[in-house]
Amino acid sequence: MAKEPLLAVEGLNVGYAGSAALNDVSLAVQAEELICVIGANGAGKTSLIRTIAGIVCPTRGRIAWRGRDIVGMSPWEICELGIAQVAEGREVFPNLSVEDNLLIGGSLKRARGRRDANLRRVYELFPRLDERRRQSAGTLSGGEQQMLAIGRAMMSEPEMIMFDEPSIGLSPALTTVMFDVVKKLHSHRITILLVEQNVASSLAIGDRGYVLENGSIVLEGTGAGLLSNQDVRRAYLGL
Ligand code: ATP
Repeated sequence: MAKEPLLAVEGLNVGYAGSAALNDVSLAVQAEELICVIGANGAGKTSLIRTIAGIVCPTRGRIAWRGRDIVGMSPWEICELGIAQVAEGREVFPNLSVEDNLLIGGSLKRARGRRDANLRRVYELFPRLDERRRQSAGTLSGGEQQMLAIGRAMMSEPEMIMFDEPSIGLSPALTTVMFDVVKKLHSHRITILLVEQNVASSLAIGDRGYVLENGSIVLEGTGAGLLSNQDVRRAYLGL
């Protein structure tokens, strides 16, 4: 019998004021997998993450976490289940210090008791944040803010982290650092749902991937399989 996925999205439809953003999207994420969803601007990637996170309400479809339906739960309740997100544009609190931003992530019930240990773990992973712990988050560079957003997600001891285009706006060197961080979190057995326009780098680290076009999944396969797929190479890699 097939293993029950950690996250199952089935027949998901999302629309804004009558225009469809997601059409009948289905995907499955097994525990400890690194899954990529790739697609161009406007394909619906952010809508998918925001719907799983409970920020956007679907018009139809099911989202199940360990077999339990989570549509209708609040974003906070969904975080408490172990689903964290690193939003596009980082969304740190600019007027709060780096450390206060991290402590907000550590205030969930699931991880509150281990807050200090988790803070140490984040500072070990990102020494730059440790050096800047008293600095306002808004004064950090784009790359440092991205690290802070990831650190804040880690503070809740998530089972799965959803990344919305973590490489956006970063230099090529920082993009490499970012993908290394995602790989490192995955090696610590955190399940990853990575939504990206950077197709080559995402598929290179993904166990499996889905291609989202105009709100629909048009292709799925292993990371390596999609990377060598002629349609993917032509449409997304210009080859
Ligand atoms: P990008 O890579 O540019 O962020 P994306 O793949 O994340 O794009 P979404 O942001 O999910 O795509 O957008 C999918 C579609 O839904 C787009 O046509 C977008 O204009 C529309 N859309 C997204 N958010 C809203 C909203 N709040 N109100 C109306 N339309 C929206």
